[in-house]
Amino acid sequence: CFCQVTGTLDDCACDVETIDRFNNKEIFPKLQKLLSSDYFRFYKVNLNNPCPFWTDHSQCGLKYCAVKPCTLAPCVFRYRVKYQRYSEAASQDIEECEKAEKLGAVNGSLSDETRQALQEWKKHDDESDRFCMLDDEDSPKSQYVDLLLNPERFTGYKGPEAWRIWNSIYEENCFKPYSVKRPLNPLASNSGLCVEKRAFFRLISGLHASINIHLSARYLLDENWFEMKWGHNVSEFQLRFDKELTEGEGPKRLRNLYFLYLIELRALAKILPYFERPAFHLYTGQHTQDNENKKLLLELLHVAKSFPLHFDETALFAGNNKEAMKLKEDFKLTFKNISRIMDCVECFKCRLWGKLQTQGLGSALKILFSERQIDAMPNTSNTNPSFQLSRQEIVSLFNAFGRISTSVRELENFRSLLSNLKQ
Ligand code: FAD
Repeated sequence: CFCQVTGTLDDCACDVETIDRFNNKEIFPKLQKLLSSDYFRFYKVNLNNPCPFWTDHSQCGLKYCAVKPCTLAPCVFRYRVKYQRYSEAASQDIEECEKAEKLGAVNGSLSDETRQALQEWKKHDDESDRFCMLDDEDSPKSQYVDLLLNPERFTGYKGPEAWRIWNSIYEENCFKPYSVKRPLNPLASNSGLCVEKRAFFRLISGLHASINIHLSARYLLDENWFEMKWGHNVSEFQLRFDKELTEGEGPKRLRNLYFLYLIELRALAKILPYFERPAFHLYTGQHTQDNENKKLLLELLHVAKSFPLHFDETALFAGNNKEAMKLKEDFKLTFKNISRIMDCVECFKCRLWGKLQTQGLGSALKILFSERQIDAMPNTSNTNPSFQLSRQEIVSLFNAFGRISTSVRELENFRSLLSNLKQ
């Protein structure tokens, strides 16, 4: 069953309903609330890194691929630093920001106060051993992006460019001979792959499935001079996931999505002690809201911990022998490579969410395989814990899980749309 990474992984019936119920009722609403807070909605990213693998890539001219620059974040900080007393009046912040936006205040022209405020944020960052390439946050090319202003949805990015990315991920970086033109079944028991490598493939395939669910759920249905209509495109969903139309591949891809869900959920359950430390703050400088957000975050993590069917990661990299260590190192390197491939995605919106989600999954893997350091946490000083996460890792971890959780939720919507069609 996908709940355990042993045996043939894919053969048994899985308790999808339990996950659906748990996610849609317990996790999804809390997570959405948390992700709309300032701490989680502003993500620092460098979307201008050159592609390290090929130079002949074209410029993306699709209008839905544009990422709206973030004028709101620096503005909110500036406003807060100046007017701490009023910091709870979010609408005032936004009004102020809209004025600033009209005046052309952009990320590149931060005031000294804003810079100071951002330095304060950085003081609350930790970091350590990683599964993923993180952008240099100090690079002038890195900028804050407001994720709520730039939702993941249909962009029109497709064809040879998009295929080259997926192909390079699967063929060169997924431990398996795989061609997107002639998909093989990598989980077949005769594939000869060890359990870790099959798990790796399932994570990437789950991420791919999630991206394709989002583009089908927020598809551009209609457009005119005045407005654009986004919504569910049932036939797009069917083309990608229907059993008959995909020769049985679609349902496997959806199971990989649930597999990814369980991995990230498990990571959240395990990281609870890190966030429970009194020294940990979801720092934005807005104390009342920061405290409330921390409370909400802990509630969410306690719910995650209570899930009855947790994935058992101890089967992965079991043993302390050289082979297991080497495998873990390969796993890490391959995953880092995938995060670098994201710099080759021509569509900026897809690149933004691709980078965020690979980084988030990288953070989840880092948590899962740092058991000793996390267990040692209560014995170490609060200011220098044995396990550390940077703000970028935290923001990507929760937002990436938010994407997968939304995909699981969207599956319910598609199921009911499909059953309405049949009636
Ligand atoms: P693709 O999805 O391109 O798949 C290529 C081939 O891979 C398929 O033919 C199939 O053989 C195999 N395959 C498909 N799904 C899976 C799976 N889950 N597991 C294993 N194998 C699979 N488009 C948007 O509209 N919005 C976005 O936000 C967006 N983000 C993207 C982010 C990244 C990093 C990339 C690389 C692409 C993104 N795209 C996005 C494009 C989108 O994923 C598809 O590539 C595009 O819609 C074309 O789809 P397709 O039907 O040709 O098959």
